[in-house]
Amino acid sequence: MAVPRNRHSNARKNTRRAHDAKRPANILTCKNCKSAVLAHRMCASCGHYNGRSVAQSDQAPAQEQAQG
Ligand SMILES: [Zn+2]
Repeated sequence: MAVPRNRHSNARKNTRRAHDAKRPANILTCKNCKSAVLAHRMCASCGHYNGRSVAQSDQAPAQEQAQG
């Protein structure tokens, strides 16, 4: 295992870690139902993504399984 030859200063350590902070989640509003939605994810309340419905309906799951 590699061992560091010299000690790095606190300033060098802190400068390296200046970009390590976790950013808050990007929360948008759904265009269909106006609820809060995470970016690049389907709306949990109405099932819309990018202006159209993408959620599977619970009425006909048998036809979906026959294709796979
Ligand atoms: Zn929605």
